[in-house]
Amino acid sequence: MMESRGLVIRAVSSFYELDTGDGRIICRARGRLRLDGVEPLPGDTVSFIEDPYHDGNGILTGIIERKNFFLRPNIANVDQIVFVATAARPVTEPYLIDRLSVITAEKGCGFLLCINKADLHSADALFQSYLKTEIPVIRTSAETGEGMDELLDALSGKLSVLTGNSGVGKTSMLNRIIPSANRQTNDLSSKYGRGRHTTRTTELFRLNQDTWVADTPGFAALDLQTVSTVTSESLASCFAEFPVGQCRFPDCRHDREPGCAVRDCVANKTVSTSRYESYIRLLHELQIAERSNK
Ligand code: GDP
Ligand code: ZN
Repeated sequence: MMESRGLVIRAVSSFYELDTGDGRIICRARGRLRLDGVEPLPGDTVSFIEDPYHDGNGILTGIIERKNFFLRPNIANVDQIVFVATAARPVTEPYLIDRLSVITAEKGCGFLLCINKADLHSADALFQSYLKTEIPVIRTSAETGEGMDELLDALSGKLSVLTGNSGVGKTSMLNRIIPSANRQTNDLSSKYGRGRHTTRTTELFRLNQDTWVADTPGFAALDLQTVSTVTSESLASCFAEFPVGQCRFPDCRHDREPGCAVRDCVANKTVSTSRYESYIRLLHELQIAERSNK
């Protein structure tokens, strides 16, 4: 039987909803896949065959492409994380932005900062601080539509995950950028047992041909030590704007060492104080964890 390809847009217990390019199909995983301990995730490109006994259903036979993945929230092949922040309520703590930017830098996936509710608060300080980094930053308002074209440009051709604390405007942005016709109304979880009201699952929404967006709140709380293999030594390299390698000591951790080029940049304001403070907070957390692991 001919194998076809699809993109997993949702996984609920052992059922997978695939987008095949010209439609949707619900698959079960072939037994062997589960025995191998490989669990398909939303975002995986997979192979499947049509189920000869169940019209319109399929059997997922293997994972074809997975360049990165996250568990809890579960998603694979993430091109970029879009961190939705705001200087209006609920005010976003820059440390959360920087911690997630380190995790994504280490996973080799992109990071975009989106400062929403610009109609309520212009967030100039936050915005200026990220202009000094290599993190792209845009200002949006899901209320007025400001910045939505820029956001759409940044999403184009990628699989992006919108994340950020509850209340910053992720759902409002999704509703603005995704024509409601594209939303799946047949609810997989109610169709297959698990109630509608259990934990929200990751779901990919299609903007166009190869542009996908998922909304998974749990990312904002990801823990550095459990999710990444970053160390106190490699941490500074995740802050791309830091002039590492220019300090007096080659093993400088940019903390209290004399002749530190990073601290010089903070003093002359080419590196933002807030970014540096996040770095120090993460450095100390990593150092404590490393000491207790010895
Ligand atoms: P989520 O929890 O991140 O999905 O946030 P929601 O999309 O549910 O938005 C939380 C509240 O903020 C809602 O009352 C929205 O109407 C409001 N909101 C979202 N974006 C904006 C914005 O850009 N400007 C203003 N003024 N309100 C917004
Ligand atoms: Zn240094």
